[in-house]
Amino acid sequence: MRFQSLRARIAIVVVLLMLAVQLAGYAVISTVIGANARSNSESQLVVAENVFRQVLRANGEKLTQAATVVAADFGFREAVATHDENTVASALKNHGNRIDADIVMLADLDGKLTADSRGPAHVDAPFPLRSLIRAATRQGDASSIVTIDGKLYQVVAVPVKAPVTIAWVAMGFRIDDETARDFASLTSLDVSFLDRLPDGRWSVLASSLPDARHAHASIADTADDNYATRVVLLQSGVEQTAVMLQRSVQDIMAPFHRLQTALAIITVLGVLASIVGSMLTARSVTRPVEALTRFSHRVEIGDYDQPIGLSSHDELGKLANAFDHMQRAISERERRITELAYMDRLTGLANRAMFNDRLQAAIAATQSGTHIAPPTFSVMMMDLDRFKYVNDTLGHPIGDLLLCEVAKRLRDNLRSTDLVARLGGDEFAVLLPGDANDGAQRVAEHLVKTLEAPITIEGQLVDVGASIGIVTFPQHGNDMNVLMRRADIAMYVAKRANTGYAIYDEKHDHNSAERLSLMSELRQAVEHDQLMLHYQPKLDLMMGTVKYVEALVRWEHPTRGFVAPDQFIPFAEQTGYIKAISHWVADKAIGQCAAWQAAGIELAVSVNVSARELIQSTLPDTFSALLKKHGVAPEMVWIEITESAIMDDPNHAIETLDRLHALGIRLAIDDFGTGYSSLAYLKRMPVDELKIDKSFVMGMTQHKDDETIVRSTIDLAHNMGLKVVAEGVETEDVLDRLRDLRCDLVQGFHLSRPLPPARLEAWLIDWEIRQATEQA
Ligand code: C2E
Ligand code: CA
Ligand code: CA
Repeated sequence: MRFQSLRARIAIVVVLLMLAVQLAGYAVISTVIGANARSNSESQLVVAENVFRQVLRANGEKLTQAATVVAADFGFREAVATHDENTVASALKNHGNRIDADIVMLADLDGKLTADSRGPAHVDAPFPLRSLIRAATRQGDASSIVTIDGKLYQVVAVPVKAPVTIAWVAMGFRIDDETARDFASLTSLDVSFLDRLPDGRWSVLASSLPDARHAHASIADTADDNYATRVVLLQSGVEQTAVMLQRSVQDIMAPFHRLQTALAIITVLGVLASIVGSMLTARSVTRPVEALTRFSHRVEIGDYDQPIGLSSHDELGKLANAFDHMQRAISERERRITELAYMDRLTGLANRAMFNDRLQAAIAATQSGTHIAPPTFSVMMMDLDRFKYVNDTLGHPIGDLLLCEVAKRLRDNLRSTDLVARLGGDEFAVLLPGDANDGAQRVAEHLVKTLEAPITIEGQLVDVGASIGIVTFPQHGNDMNVLMRRADIAMYVAKRANTGYAIYDEKHDHNSAERLSLMSELRQAVEHDQLMLHYQPKLDLMMGTVKYVEALVRWEHPTRGFVAPDQFIPFAEQTGYIKAISHWVADKAIGQCAAWQAAGIELAVSVNVSARELIQSTLPDTFSALLKKHGVAPEMVWIEITESAIMDDPNHAIETLDRLHALGIRLAIDDFGTGYSSLAYLKRMPVDELKIDKSFVMGMTQHKDDETIVRSTIDLAHNMGLKVVAEGVETEDVLDRLRDLRCDLVQGFHLSRPLPPARLEAWLIDWEIRQATEQA
């Protein structure tokens, strides 16, 4: 048994207590019964003594009566007086026989026996009972227990009067073992008659005990433990006789022992019952405690489903009830905490933490279990276009509502098994289980279309779009971080290319090994002057002159050969290296402008600036420093910014443009028509020129729609007092049409490809010669 267990302790304590109580009870009852038995035997002895004395008295009276009758008989008195010995003897014998007396004697006044039932031999012997006669002389008669010839008798003496005492009649009963047994059966005690010897010792004369030794032993040692004894002195004086009443302690104690045995059995049964009872009680206490312990362990490991299952109504039942309540409260709080930890509060979508968890789980799920078809899923990363613009112009509350509406549209257009999360800001992510590239592409297409439908918030029509990047597991990576980064790259590609969505392609990934080496090579290119600028002329249709050129960067790679700017500019933008390139380009272009000026060639140079730099406030300082360095007038320098670059963060863009404009630098909006410029913004911007995107210009003679866009853009620009440049003019037809539409300037392969400075100078001379011949 384990003593540290509550059950064992309760059982042991209860059993020990019960044992103590039972033993104490046993001891007390035992003592009381013992004392009772002893006092009982004591009173028995007293009663027996009384009975004994009564019997003696009765016998004495019987003897006295018989003796008195003899003594009073006239004939007998005459016979005594006349010494008629025969008559005396026969009278004594007759009367003795009547009462079964064992001894009858007649003594004369001299104390001499004159008759004796024992036989004529005793006649003339001295009367053995002188003391008896002395007592009878005083009282008239006397009774005594005496020994005669070593035998015990109860004897009475009565005077024979005529009329004075002339003799004494003595009559007695023998007291032997038989007498003792009679007494014993009357009193249910052992009876022994004793006689004191002259040396002081007692001798047993008669006894009911079969073995008189007991009586001897008892009289020698009155403290004999085996017997309860009462000694009654029958005759005091010189001749001492006594009766000893005895009861064996064993007999006295027999009923008590029976009681004691019964009590002992009851005690043992009581202890056994208390053991069983205490075990049951302990169990009834410890069972619920064990249930509570098991329950706590379940709560500990987060199992909140099973209630404790205790239905008792006692304190433990109440405790169990309290535990159940606690479990429910913990489970509810945990649910709430998980919800808060995993939920985006604004939109109610999952948050980044949850998305990451689920993505990890999806990856883990593919690694465990046996799948017949290799498991796959796609991740989409989505970013809203122009969200910042909405937020800045209409305010954060509207921005929040917009995000909620976008969240709603995403949820409504996805399966319940898909997970939509807001990662932060205007960035969303979708986990599409089971979808490979094709499926994800269809979903992305659908989502882009859904989000293109205008949204009305508090009466305002808000127009946002989305760019989505798609990656598929395991094709594009089998690690969460890789997948997320690549989805982000694909999204960026989609945003830049304005295609709505893009599937990840390694060639976009500037962090892949190849791209990393490109990065260091690009750095080397800038440092070792492997970059150069080509210049593409813009023709003034009205004047027929070429006064402007656009600087376009070129990279002649030692091993790769010619690398197009589309292949490294976005990469440089992403890595931040664009800053160094831009600085190099601006320095080179402005320097070239100064060189041409010095050579007498009047050419204004336009430089492309990317969105990232526009937000940086250092751009105006850089340009002003370079203008000063090369001594170029600011109006000779143009900056081209794409429409989408402005719309990404219009407020910052406008601020920077204002400062550039304040320097005297001219500004052109590049790739116009591809973004979503708000007219309100255009009006606020210090812009001088719009460049219609070449995608509209190149096919404008074939596609009516494109022509319409070109025409309306030209009208719009003119209405706002801006000049219009058409890029991508590849044919004479387009050139003529643009002239008809009163476009101000044209740029394109039809005139010239971008050329290195020396070749551009040659082209210019050639161009002037041609102009002159045409006019002539
Ligand atoms: P962009 O600013 O729109 O530049 C015009 C692009 O159109 C140039 O491509 C040019 O070669 C091309 N182009 C000119 N005429 C025609 C034509 O008639 N038909 C066709 N199909 N294309 C024509 P390029 O040089 O490859 O530059 C591509 C883009 O790279 C530029 O587009 C510009 O956004 C960027 N870029 C080029 N140089 C720089 C630079 O120095 N800095 C920055 N930030 N971006 C640059
Ligand atoms: Ca440009
Ligand atoms: Ca352009």
